[in-house]
Amino acid sequence: MKLAIEAPPLHTLTVAGRDERFPVNRVFCVGRNYAAHAREMGKDPDRDPPFFFMKPANAVVDATQPTSVPYPPKTINYHHEIELVVAIGRGGRDIGVASALDHVYGYAVGMDMTRRDLQLEARDKGRPWEFGKSFSRSAPIGPLHRVQEVGHLPSAAITLTVNGQPRQSSDVSKLIWSVAECVAYLSEYETLEPGDIVMTGTPEGVNAVVAGDVMLGAVAGLGEIEVRVAR
Ligand code: MN
Repeated sequence: MKLAIEAPPLHTLTVAGRDERFPVNRVFCVGRNYAAHAREMGKDPDRDPPFFFMKPANAVVDATQPTSVPYPPKTINYHHEIELVVAIGRGGRDIGVASALDHVYGYAVGMDMTRRDLQLEARDKGRPWEFGKSFSRSAPIGPLHRVQEVGHLPSAAITLTVNGQPRQSSDVSKLIWSVAECVAYLSEYETLEPGDIVMTGTPEGVNAVVAGDVMLGAVAGLGEIEVRVAR
């Protein structure tokens, strides 16, 4: 096939312990999926159906090694959100909750970096969240650990520190909507494809970072990632 312009780069993630890489298709993100975080964002936590927003594939940054992300333009309130990341290995639609985890390839530690001022302005005006959430290099993600190696994670500590100071600390067992429920629900609206990524939401403690800050994010069983905020 002859392309009219140079093909855009493929964005991939490291697979722990393998020499093959995971190609990233779409990045779906769940909003307000921990009660204490919903409260800190000024919303009542509830069991309303989950809601999703997306990031482009070029949001993904391989954080297998200590890495950095640029401080993005047009914000003065750039926030960290530590999240459990789910990689879809097998596509499907109308997937039931009981079989949803069969579609998971693996898990990783990730950060949903957010221009909070732009997100809240958009939210309060009833506009899309794109400028707050969906920008380049806004999703550093560590190596993917395959389900056959680590199993599933019904509970696991999830933490983030900034310059060594604790900021976020919770457990993935506190997800309002579990991984299986998120995958099943999403698949009713969109046929899932291999390579899709689901970022499952962040616990309480989100806060701002500035250039020079070093974030350490971890999920027990999946290791940790080190991400520096560049200028
Ligand atoms: Mn998030």
